[in-house]
Amino acid sequence: MKWSLIQKTANPTIESYGCRDSRVKEFLREEGGFRCVYCAVHENALGGIQAFHVEHYRPKSKPEFAHLENSLSNLFYACPICNRFKANDWPGEPKKKHSVSSYPDPSTVDYSTLFKVSESTGLVSGPYVASKYMIERLYFNRPQLILERKEYFLRQAFEKLNADHAVLIGELVTKGGKTSGKLIKKLTDLNTKVTKHLMDLKKIPAYELADVRRRRS
Ligand SMILES: [Zn+2]
Repeated sequence: MKWSLIQKTANPTIESYGCRDSRVKEFLREEGGFRCVYCAVHENALGGIQAFHVEHYRPKSKPEFAHLENSLSNLFYACPICNRFKANDWPGEPKKKHSVSSYPDPSTVDYSTLFKVSESTGLVSGPYVASKYMIERLYFNRPQLILERKEYFLRQAFEKLNADHAVLIGELVTKGGKTSGKLIKKLTDLNTKVTKHLMDLKKIPAYELADVRRRRS
């Protein structure tokens, strides 16, 4: 679970469809790397694109932002939980040094500079007023996200373990320990398969909208 800067690209055709059009959601989804713009959870953790929302960064219900309702620069891909917690909350315009309660713009600020994740506890913390505000308001330390983050670090550790096993097998075979070498190879092969599967689960989008649309016979 990693945050990164959301690179916005203008697309007048997509923008003309309006924020409720599924093509807009699909566009924002790719732009956002299939992750929630706020908590960075992958869509697969919550059931894919159907469960995710089109988020209005500057809330459309505030009269001063009503004109941004369909503006792609104001739209992001977000999980339903963050979207509900944020609702129409807008404490004020963000400041450069994140010194006030606010939501820094995900297309100009890389959120990985706002938040730090503890590898051992899975908890998110942040050094800035804006980080603390978002962590509290969007409940970034909810139990489900803590588990997701721990799983992320475990998957990384398993990948490294597989590399270590390969070295170990090499050493055992060179030194004549063929049976132990074979056993460890078996274990490693299985481990590699499991790790790959776990990685794929997070990398491959669960379902496209076209996959889940009712087919007409
Ligand atoms: Zn989220």
